[in-house]
Amino acid sequence: MIKLTNISKSFGRNPVLKSIDLTVNKGEVVVILGPSGSGKTTLLRCVNYLEKPSGGEIAIGDFRMNAEHAAKKDIHALRQKTAMVFQQYNLFKHKTAIENVMEGLVIVKKIPKDEARKRSAALLEKVGLAGKLDAYPSQLSGGQQQRVGIARALALEPEVILFDEPTSALDPELVGEVLEVIRKIAKEGITMIVVTHEMGFARDVANHVVFMDGGVIVEEGPPAQLFNHPREERTKQFLKRIT
Ligand code: ADP
Repeated sequence: MIKLTNISKSFGRNPVLKSIDLTVNKGEVVVILGPSGSGKTTLLRCVNYLEKPSGGEIAIGDFRMNAEHAAKKDIHALRQKTAMVFQQYNLFKHKTAIENVMEGLVIVKKIPKDEARKRSAALLEKVGLAGKLDAYPSQLSGGQQQRVGIARALALEPEVILFDEPTSALDPELVGEVLEVIRKIAKEGITMIVVTHEMGFARDVANHVVFMDGGVIVEEGPPAQLFNHPREERTKQFLKRIT
């Protein structure tokens, strides 16, 4: 349902993504692993055009666009189909938890405020924040802020949620609560692409694991295969270092 074809990206003369092909089926959780600087975040950001790819094609369902020469309406359409959860949460600091979740519903989806408020409250309840609707980000822990970020992404009802290292800014004791929420929504069949260093999560929750290095996909497959029987030397070395 999501198909990236030949996606490339250079920053100046530095080629960061080299002709990436990736297919993600509906309802699948794809985890992207790889050493720092391998292009994982850039790839994720290309999927919703926070970075403009230097070439390639992005397809989501029947929608397809040339990633290098995208029309404004295509970029708009792509953004409607994707939502990003950021490492640093990126919440509006002067808005409460519920206002953060409502924002996209009211501004992007043009849903009346009362209805948006209702839906947002239900989503915050789902991520375990029923008692924090009116709290400002500064009054919430990192784990709670990230759960607001997840509720905000869910509110947009995207076809895919893109998670960019969602737990790497958190204190270790807060990582579990965020992974638990991601695990729960994965079970509901929401399509996700997750960049993470959490190997336990990748093993348990991913349907498909992609290992990147140097701007290419070195190896990909189901977690049991990639973790237990990696084929490529670079994958073996990486797994040895981090586990
Ligand atoms: P990863 O997520 O795997 O750590 P990134 O996608 O963040 O890797 O980065 C891949 C490479 O692209 C790195 O060499 C990084 O320095 C470079 N890069 C990322 N963003 C930019 C940018 N905005 N401008 C220039 N270089 C960048």
